[in-house]
Amino acid sequence: MVPALGRDAAQRLVVKVGSALLVDAAGNVRRAWLETLVADIAARMASGQQIAIVSSGAIALGARRLKLSKGGRASLEDAQAAAATGQIALSQCWAELLGAHGLTAAQMLVTLDDLEDRRRYLNASATLQRLIGLGVVPVINENDSVATAEIRFGDNDRLAARIAQAAGAQAVVLLSDVDGLYTSDPARNAKAERIDRVARIDPAIVAMAGGGTSSGMGSGGMASKIEAAQIASSAGVDLMIVSGLHDHPLERLARGGCGTLFVADGATRAKKAWLAGRLTVKGSVYVDAGAVKALKGGASLLPAGAKSIDGKFARGDVLPIVGPDGIAIARGLSEYDSADAVRIAGKRSDALSAILGYAPRAALIHRDHMVML
Ligand code: GLU
Repeated sequence: MVPALGRDAAQRLVVKVGSALLVDAAGNVRRAWLETLVADIAARMASGQQIAIVSSGAIALGARRLKLSKGGRASLEDAQAAAATGQIALSQCWAELLGAHGLTAAQMLVTLDDLEDRRRYLNASATLQRLIGLGVVPVINENDSVATAEIRFGDNDRLAARIAQAAGAQAVVLLSDVDGLYTSDPARNAKAERIDRVARIDPAIVAMAGGGTSSGMGSGGMASKIEAAQIASSAGVDLMIVSGLHDHPLERLARGGCGTLFVADGATRAKKAWLAGRLTVKGSVYVDAGAVKALKGGASLLPAGAKSIDGKFARGDVLPIVGPDGIAIARGLSEYDSADAVRIAGKRSDALSAILGYAPRAALIHRDHMVML
């Protein structure tokens, strides 16, 4: 657990708090517990650590106020109304509790789109960094009241990983009602064991995640936590799943409390990490074995190397590059829109200007805008 809170603590940390911890079954804020968490945050900030909070709970809180069924999750419209109502109470609560320790809270509500579009991502990142630099505590949630199904994160686990990346944090702590990743579902299998440390997220780890959420209140569950760990890891950020079912959860963790640590892949550069973590893709490029070899050797993807293209995308959209075995080996930003990409796929470089009617770009996907998976 050392990377977030121990002796070599991360300078900058994102703490994500799940709905089931923030809100009780009756739909009220678990204020007494929250006070212990905020006391931990204040203590860590006093000792020099910088902290951003990703807070769930808006939908759960709003649903109770609006008397909506199914915790406000019966329909997208309900969830959006609940979020709009709950968010104002949630941010007031954070501002008040942090304020009691002399800390200033700042609210940021973001959609998936805000972090997927490179320009908006850089903008959100600059705001976060500025707030943190000013000693303020950013409190972030998804802008659920405007995000439609297609442009929602849906869970705050992946949002927290993306925010960590945008904030330049070194670690994320997901405070949850589970205390880590188990070899199988501990509720059903007495022999299930918690995994303390994951160095690489392979298919066996993904399979352990199963699905669903234990509380039925948030929308996370272990699967979204593993996806969050994947995003964090490829961004060079450590991620921990830790139980928040105790008072002073951060202090407890610092004193050697347990959970599951997903160790960051240190080698990934920031822009490439952003690329690897993007969730929405609008098309794919299919390549042959020769192109796979060239890409692995560090080459750009030339039109001649593309066997076929599918999807409808614009210049600058992210495309997975898929090898002959159907597995995506890389991702990159397309230098062409889909109409032109289809026309030049498989064509040699010297034939391109005649086909396109304009001077071609150096590559279909340039290696500077590509990340190998
Ligand atoms: N953004 C949602 C809320 O504030 C929570 C998403 C989640 O459950 O992770 O209610």
